[in-house]
Amino acid sequence: MTDFDSSLVPSGDILIGGEWRQGRGAPYRSVYPADQTINAEISTADAEDAREAIEAADAAWRDANWAGLKPHQRASVLYRVAELIGARHEALAQLQRRDNGKPIGETRALVASAANTFRYFAACLETLDEDLTPSRGDYLTMSVHEPLGVIGAITPWNSPIASDAQKLAPALAAGNAVVLKPAEVTPLVSLALARICEEAGVPKGVLSVLPGKGSVVGDALVRHPLVKKVSFTGGTSVGRGIARIAAEKLMPVSLELGGKSPTIVFDDADLDHAVNGVLYGIFSSSGEACIAGSRLFVQRSIYRAFMERLVEGARRLRVGDPSRVETQMGPLISAQHRESVERYVALGLQEGGRLLCGGERPAGDGRENGFFYQPTILDGLANSARICQEEIFGPVLVAMPFDDEASLVQHANDSVFGLAAGIWTRDYKRAWRVARALETGTVWINTYKLFSISTPFSGWKESGMGREKGRLGIREYMQQKSLYWGLNDAPLPWAN
Ligand code: NAD
Repeated sequence: MTDFDSSLVPSGDILIGGEWRQGRGAPYRSVYPADQTINAEISTADAEDAREAIEAADAAWRDANWAGLKPHQRASVLYRVAELIGARHEALAQLQRRDNGKPIGETRALVASAANTFRYFAACLETLDEDLTPSRGDYLTMSVHEPLGVIGAITPWNSPIASDAQKLAPALAAGNAVVLKPAEVTPLVSLALARICEEAGVPKGVLSVLPGKGSVVGDALVRHPLVKKVSFTGGTSVGRGIARIAAEKLMPVSLELGGKSPTIVFDDADLDHAVNGVLYGIFSSSGEACIAGSRLFVQRSIYRAFMERLVEGARRLRVGDPSRVETQMGPLISAQHRESVERYVALGLQEGGRLLCGGERPAGDGRENGFFYQPTILDGLANSARICQEEIFGPVLVAMPFDDEASLVQHANDSVFGLAAGIWTRDYKRAWRVARALETGTVWINTYKLFSISTPFSGWKESGMGREKGRLGIREYMQQKSLYWGLNDAPLPWAN
C-alpha cells in the first residue's frame, strides 16, 4: 500500500536509448526510509545497457530535431518541461518524499526549484548572445558555441530532483544528449522526470535514465569514449576517481563534491536569528546536505549562553513522519548510513568530545521502523579532531569557541573542503573581511542555505571543480569555436 502516485514510474521499466524497458542489472527494491515499506521494484541497468544508451545518445543529439533546432525552439521544449513539473508538483513532491524520506515541506520546495531551473535555462538559451570579437585587421572574428555531444550526468541521493534538473536543464539547453545515472537508492523521481521530458518533446534517445550501481553503470559512463563530459555530484573520493579517468580521456568534468562548512557567530550577532540559522544550516535535510554547516565557531564571550540556547532549540526540533508539514527532520537515507553517522559520534566521544544533545535514535510514534537519528551537538574538541575534518553527512554539529578574528579564519580554513560558510554579525565591515578571507565557494552572511538558480555555485579545494547555475552555467556544456571571416580581396601576403 503506497501513499504516492505509482503511475509516475512506469511498471519498473527504465529509459534506455529512447525505449522504456527492463535493464539487464539486478532489480532494485526502493524502500521508504521512514518505515521501510516498499515503494516499487525498479529494473536497473548494467554496462551493456549503458553502452546502448550512449550510442543512441550520440546518434540522437546531432539530429535536426535537437542540436539543429534554433535556440528559441529548443527553449520551448524546456519551458514545457517546467510547466509539466509544475502541473505535477504535488505528485512529484510525494514521490521524492518516498524516494529519500525528506519532509514534504522540503520536497515541495525542491520540485518548485526543479521547474525554475528548466525555465531559467530555457530563458538563458534564447537570450544568450554570441560574440563578435574586436577586429585586428581586414577580417571579422567571432565566437560561437557548439554542444559537446553526449553528457554523462551522475547524481547523489540527497536532493535527486534538484540535482538532476541542475544538470539536465543546461546540458539539454546547450543541444547535448544526456545519459543520467541517478543514485542507486533514489531512482524514482529521475524516472518520473524522464517521462516528463519525453512528453514535453525531448526526442527519443536524447535522454536516457539508467538507475544502477555506480561502480558498474557510472563507471561505464565515465569511461566510454563517446561521452564528452561528465557532470558529477557526489562524494569526494568517487569524484577523485572520475577525475583520474577523465584525465586519461582528456575529458572535461564538473565535480560538485563534499563539504565540512564552518558557521561563525560573532558576539554582536542577532542571536535569535543566529540560533535559528545555525539549527537550520545543520539539521534541515537531517544534515544530509553537502552545504550543511557542520562546524560551528562561536565567539568565546557568548559561547556558553549561545550554546545553551542552541541545545534547547535542537531538542525542540520535530523529528518524525516526513508526510506531515510540521516535520523538520525526517529519517536518514538508510540503516547503513545511520550506522556510519553513529560511528562518527562514537569516534567524537572517544576523541574527548562532550555530548550536548542527541546521540541516539528517537523512539515512539513508529520512528523505530525508520532510520531516524536525533539532532546531535558535541563540543570540547579541537578543529583537528576527525569529526571536525571528515564529512559525516548527518545531523551532527561540532561546536568550538574562538577568541579573535585571525585565529578564527585560520581554523575555519583548516579543512580539505571549501564548499560553503556562514557568518552571523551586525558589523558589515567585519563580515566583508571574513567573507573574503574564507576559502569557500559560497558564503552566507546573516542567513544560511539560501539558493538562487541565477547565482553560480561551486566548491573550492576538495569540494569540487567547475560551476553550476548562473547564466554561464549553460556554457559549461558547450565548446567555444572561433570564426575568422576574411574581408580582403587581395591574396594573403605569403601567397605572393
Ligand atoms: P556517492 O559519491 O557515493 O555517489 C554519487 C553518485 O555517484 C551515485 O549516483 C553513485 O551511484 C555514483 N557512483 C558511485 N561510484 C561510482 C563510480 N565508481 N563511477 C561513477 N559513478 C559512481 O555520493 P552519495 O552518497 O550518493 O551522496 C553524498 C555525497 O554527495 C556527499 O559527499 C555530499 O557532500 C555530496 N554532494 C555534493 C553536492 C554539491 O553540490 N557539492 C550536492 C549534493 C551532494
